[in-house]
Amino acid sequence: MEKVIKCRDVGFDCDGVIRAKTEEEALKLAAAHAKAAHGLEDVTPEVVKKIKSVMTEE
Ligand SMILES: [Zn+2]
Repeated sequence: MEKVIKCRDVGFDCDGVIRAKTEEEALKLAAAHAKAAHGLEDVTPEVVKKIKSVMTEE
């Protein structure tokens, strides 16, 4: 099983999909992607909560 975050589900108009072995890694990759691809400066607790809420396992 992998943690999967679809960027679109977080609220961005983006087909990016983040996959990682652990939730911690997935959150880290999602934060890096949001910064690099979407110019998100601060990954706030609200953003983390949103990311966690859309995270699935495949
Ligand atoms: Zn994205």
